[in-house]
Amino acid sequence: MHEVGASAVIAGVQLRAVEGKNGTMNPVDVENAIRDEDIHFPRTGLICIENAHSSGAVVSIDNMNEIKKVAEKTGIPIHLDGARVFNAAKALNVDVKEITKYTDSIMFCLSKGLAAPIGSILAGSEEFIKNARKNRKLMGGGLRQAGIIAAAGIIALEKMVDRLEEDHQNSQYLAEELSKIEGINVKFDRNDINMVFFELPNEIIKEEKLISKLLDRNIKINGQEDGEYRFVTNKDVTREDLEYVVEQMKEILVRQ
Ligand SMILES: *Cc1c(COP(=O)(O)O)cnc(C)c1O
Repeated sequence: MHEVGASAVIAGVQLRAVEGKNGTMNPVDVENAIRDEDIHFPRTGLICIENAHSSGAVVSIDNMNEIKKVAEKTGIPIHLDGARVFNAAKALNVDVKEITKYTDSIMFCLSKGLAAPIGSILAGSEEFIKNARKNRKLMGGGLRQAGIIAAAGIIALEKMVDRLEEDHQNSQYLAEELSKIEGINVKFDRNDINMVFFELPNEIIKEEKLISKLLDRNIKINGQEDGEYRFVTNKDVTREDLEYVVEQMKEILVRQ
């Protein structure tokens, strides 16, 4: 959906999506999605998991373990889209290694919750990274004076991981407070990390109106995706800021 068809264009692979509940796939469905040896079928080359999931939920260690068993049985490697893996580790209250041990390779973002302006890390076996370096070069992704960017990445890893708890507490606070407002339906089953998803029907307030009224009050929100709005907390959003957001939301909804 979001990466411009890169899997087809760059990797030359076809994705086979497995139905999930809040980002968690049933291991039986994963196993069933693996293609048999058949002249008509493409070969299944990789199982991909996302944790934390961008729906705002985390995938349990247990589920990752079950999928790992499927992978081992079928000899297919697992890749983790761990853009928010440190949020997942914080929400599950485990060291990040307890998550990554169920995958063969992982990518995670130094940006987003970890606050660097740019940068993602790919990690895996020595052989895998050697290949990845070559592919990066092929796509023109080499950097020369990379230290300037790496410095922000080091701060992300050293200073921004432990404080994610604060973002999670803030997102839970925001979820609670928003849910008290008439007409807002907060998705509490997907409030594990720094995101709050909620429905606010167009009959109560039109999307464009909500966005512009919030922007007038220096609060930025995107339009709905699949009928839901999303607020995201981060290191530059304080509890006082959230109190302000809640107040403004109340005012906008009462006044219109
Ligand atoms: C942001 C994001 C990515 C891409 O990260 P980049 O740093 O842009 O490469 C991949 N997966 C998920 C779930 C993301 O949120």
